Amino acid sequence: MTAAANARDLLDRLGVSAHVWADGGLPTRSPIDGSSAGSLAQASPADVDTALTQASSAFAAWRRVPAPRRGELVRLLGEELRAAKADLAMLVTLEAGKIVSEGLGEVQEMIDICDFATGLSRQLHGLTMPSERPGHHMRETWQPLGPVGVISAFNFPVAVWAWNAALALVCGDPVIWKPSEKTPLTALATQAVFDRAVACFGPDAPPHLSQVLIGGREIGERLAADPRLPLVSATGSTRMGRAVAQSVASRLGRSLLELGGNNAMIVTPSADMDMAVRAIAFSAVGTCGQRCTSLRRLLVHADIADSLTARLTQAYATLPIGDPRQPETLVGPLIDADATTAFEASLSQAVAQGGTILKGGTRVAREGGHYVTPAIVRMPAGASGQTDVVRHETFAPILYVLTWTEFDEAVALQNDVPQGLSSCVFTDSVREAEAFLSAWGSDCGIANVNIGPSGAEIGGAFGGEKDTGGGRESGSDAWKAYMRRQTQTVNFSSQLPLAQGVRFDV
Ligand code: NAD
Repeated sequence: MTAAANARDLLDRLGVSAHVWADGGLPTRSPIDGSSAGSLAQASPADVDTALTQASSAFAAWRRVPAPRRGELVRLLGEELRAAKADLAMLVTLEAGKIVSEGLGEVQEMIDICDFATGLSRQLHGLTMPSERPGHHMRETWQPLGPVGVISAFNFPVAVWAWNAALALVCGDPVIWKPSEKTPLTALATQAVFDRAVACFGPDAPPHLSQVLIGGREIGERLAADPRLPLVSATGSTRMGRAVAQSVASRLGRSLLELGGNNAMIVTPSADMDMAVRAIAFSAVGTCGQRCTSLRRLLVHADIADSLTARLTQAYATLPIGDPRQPETLVGPLIDADATTAFEASLSQAVAQGGTILKGGTRVAREGGHYVTPAIVRMPAGASGQTDVVRHETFAPILYVLTWTEFDEAVALQNDVPQGLSSCVFTDSVREAEAFLSAWGSDCGIANVNIGPSGAEIGGAFGGEKDTGGGRESGSDAWKAYMRRQTQTVNFSSQLPLAQGVRFDV
């Protein structure tokens, strides 16, 4: 069965209306075999304007609904996602090319964040602080912020919406979603799932709490520029993030940026090599190297570099590459022809910059899809091996191997790239592990010990520094980005003392 036919069946099952299709609209295409399920109606500038007006009206009503009740809607969303998990996950596989277990994992992540946000809806805690004035109370309260724009990338086509929407909804904010133009079908299916949760929730939910706008970057540009969105959460390339950040900042809005990574693993001589090899394979090759947290730089002590790369080339030789719907497949396709071109161009640059391809780097012929063999490239030793191409994020399965001799040198190499998303060290030494996690250790938003850089849990705050954009989503106190902080002071005395003892008697 073509991927497109498979997708049409799933869309029917997931309850996506037939009205979404339109001749001459946004073409859809599966990376598995290049088949197209059809073209989708795209949002016009007037549609974007209407959606923004509707979101503002929804906000006026939703912010009055008590937060724990808002949490009930998100709990129901989690229930609907559980019911739709297999179908939505398969649609992720068909549209983004993820293997089946990664598609299921992505929907599980949506369910997990719904559970988290439901609990959070009773814990949007403020603070009280002692007032310096007698008969006064002072406190800090978190209030709903307003409609949130969500711009998402192709490689986590549904989870990124859920990370944002689950928190935004319990915080009292409606959501307008501009999914990647490469993965619009999963967005429409997610919206259908959300609509079912709203139907179960009942009349407390105003219309248009969540809306999807199908189309290209110009819709994202409109959202970034519109003051009706106090927060724009944007996930994608650093190039996109710079454009969005400038546009949002020019109207003094808030942006939450989740951008590119260039993630490294430091492997020391004391590391458990069996664990390291498994962690490297999953994080460098999983999702065909198309995760923001994919492992791209392997920083190995010079004494163990040859033995480790020998084990890796052996492991890479047996990787099952092909249709991600097949249960045995571990490496699916790249998203499109441009990604394959970028993969090959980066490999040529790496060779020109002194690298040697140890494994992979070739195309795998399969009708309609863009399949490649994941590559391992040995670069010159030390800092000179961290060339321009290594410092750049290529969104494809290329693992650059660099060597070092002193641990401090390894940490310096790890930090000496423009991006700052995820990082890790494999070591049995407490000194090395703790140094890596110290103030002079990894400069990334995520730092792991004896765990690869990808596959984060939702309970922690997710995001990174430098060119990764500085945003934090998902767990911990990331919810605060979706609310406005208000300092409230109440005078319950019959005097009017001024702060700092100022006197102003009239
Ligand atoms: P992309 O930047 O090409 O597109 C992402 C989204 O931004 C799309 O919806 C696109 O239409 C929109 N867009 C593009 N230009 C825009 C502009 N000027 N204004 C407004 N919107 C615009 O990214 P992609 O190829 O879909 O995804 C891959 C990239 O995303 C990688 O760099 C990856 O590291 C990054 N990513 C980061 C995270 C994270 O959490 N840090 C997660 C997933 C992906």
